[in-house]
Amino acid sequence: MLESVLIANRGEIACRIIRTCQRFGIRTVAVFAEADADARHVRMADESHCIGPSPAAESYLRADTIMDACLAHGAAGIHPGYGFLSENDQLAQRCAQNGVTWIGPSASCIQAMGSKIESKAIAEEAGVAGVPGYYGEDQSAERLQREAQRIGFPVLIKASAGGGGKGMRLVEDAAAFADALDFAKREAKAAFGDERVLLEKYIEHPRHLEVQIAGDHHGNVVHFFERDCSIQRNYQKVVEEAPAANLDDSVREKLLDRAVRLAEAIGYDSLGTVEFILDAGDTEPYFLEMNTRLQVEHPVTELVTGFDLVELQLQVASGEPLGLTQDAIRVNGSAIEARVNAEDPSADYRPNLGLIARYREPQLEGVRTDSGVGEQSEVTPYYDSMLAKVIAHGSSRAVATRRLTRAMEHLQILGVDTNQAFLRDILRHPSFSDGVLTTRFISEAFPEGWQPEPPDDRAAVAAAAAVALEGYRRQSGVGPWRRLAGFRVAAVPARAGRSRYEVRPTDGDPVAVDLVLENDVLTGRVDDRPTDLRIPLQRNAAGEIDWWVDGDRVYLIKQGRTMTFTVRSWVEAMASAARHETASASDVTSSIPGLVTDVHVEVGQTVSKGEPIVAMDAMKLVFELKAPQEGTVKTIHCASGDTVGAHALLVEIEPSFTEAS
Ligand code: ADP
Repeated sequence: MLESVLIANRGEIACRIIRTCQRFGIRTVAVFAEADADARHVRMADESHCIGPSPAAESYLRADTIMDACLAHGAAGIHPGYGFLSENDQLAQRCAQNGVTWIGPSASCIQAMGSKIESKAIAEEAGVAGVPGYYGEDQSAERLQREAQRIGFPVLIKASAGGGGKGMRLVEDAAAFADALDFAKREAKAAFGDERVLLEKYIEHPRHLEVQIAGDHHGNVVHFFERDCSIQRNYQKVVEEAPAANLDDSVREKLLDRAVRLAEAIGYDSLGTVEFILDAGDTEPYFLEMNTRLQVEHPVTELVTGFDLVELQLQVASGEPLGLTQDAIRVNGSAIEARVNAEDPSADYRPNLGLIARYREPQLEGVRTDSGVGEQSEVTPYYDSMLAKVIAHGSSRAVATRRLTRAMEHLQILGVDTNQAFLRDILRHPSFSDGVLTTRFISEAFPEGWQPEPPDDRAAVAAAAAVALEGYRRQSGVGPWRRLAGFRVAAVPARAGRSRYEVRPTDGDPVAVDLVLENDVLTGRVDDRPTDLRIPLQRNAAGEIDWWVDGDRVYLIKQGRTMTFTVRSWVEAMASAARHETASASDVTSSIPGLVTDVHVEVGQTVSKGEPIVAMDAMKLVFELKAPQEGTVKTIHCASGDTVGAHALLVEIEPSFTEAS
């Protein structure tokens, strides 16, 4: 095996690769962009190397800089992980030229499968049929329109160079085709520098099934069975499992057979995945594409087969044979993976940014967590929003589902909003346990769109109680609830008495909570409505609600759903409201988290109402924050390059006059 490996990636996959290397005593070199200087993968590796500024194009996508780092550290191999340069045949070639082992397939395999158009032709030749469609080189609008007509609507236009669900357009009828084609071509050109498209019959009830393949340099190819990745949002996977449930053995045979046949046809010599699409109810799986790399969802295959796929990848990269016969690979039980992303599933999966204030992985039997973050990790706008993958294994699918559901309830990522409660609700949904999964799952399971349960009165009381009890704990010094008598703290009710708080949920209106302490039990009323919550002083939770207090911020965790509140004593809230009443109407604040790309003003400058003050970039969206009214710039709290949270105060403007009210 190799003596040292440079990992040309970040986040969970870099950490996961380092773990296997460590198991074999392989020296690891991490690379990082500026935003990742303190990242988990950098701390885990033996050595590390900064490869440039935070944007991926200037760091993780720079094959030249990465090769220089590899040579400088004397690393024997490069593992590209997934995404970034993982399917970059030029880096593979560069490795060969520099005597470095590329931990992936040969450049020719990457090229063969790199474009959807060419890979479909190769597959077809190997007897592996793609979705009925048009994969031709004639890209004229007339020809494409004619072909779409022949295929029959609805059709899907796909960018030949596309990936990650990008560059796809559904066209419902002939009238809409020309415009959609135009758009798709422009999008493909901008995103991938290749405007070629292909057309596919739109499968109405698609199941996404894929086969894990491994080949070596000695002509051996084996499969590690299939995964079902049908639960998707915006054509991206959310929950994946192995093996596929409710799949006919005869269809499974076809999948496995065809995947091996294609891999053999191209002399595949590493780890890879052959993706298929199957119309639920049909028995003919169609080839979609082949990914010539390690896949995000590889852990479900590892858990059911017992193989470490990164180990195999390292082994075959260094020229060793697989040393495995197909019979030696068996499926044991069932495994399911959930992708935990910093995103808002109730607002079209808008990414969230911020600092992770608390991070706790589930410690449960049969549960594995692959993560690239930890406490104090910053979620920045530069990279994708996946924070961690939680994977559960069980003797049956039902056991794996229950374990993963529990894991979703136990995982704690506080400070940045994630899709954790959404994942929990997917796993708890009756059609997840019963039905045949299709890519329509999310829209059918949540026809109105998924919404988290809104914070109720009990949550507001719990939030106030959390702050009150935290106050007691701090004051008492010793064990949590000792020596209660005989001290008084502002904002905390006396041993017996009542105290009022302002409790403000994120994105919600504040409520007044009255806490009453009697006989060492806290009870509460919200805007004068009584609640049934009773919190004994010696507890650090209220029934099924756990909490964590960070200053005036309270995180409540109820079965995997996190709610964030700001809690202040009523007196404090009133005083602060009076102070801010006049000022706030003229301040410039960030409406959503993002990156400040430009500050257009200087202190002392006069500005008119509506004048652009700050330019922000939030997840590829560029927008200007404008002056809410005429005035003079008083203070600037941000600079170009800053990452800011939602509602952050960016620029204070002294109004030049106050409108009479
Ligand atoms: P990408 O390379 O961008 O991931 P894929 O071709 O692998 O694109 O497709 C991604 C997803 O899009 C699939 O998993 C499936 O959900 C959906 N999809 C792709 N092709 C079709 C099709 N012909 N009909 C319906 N859905 C499709």
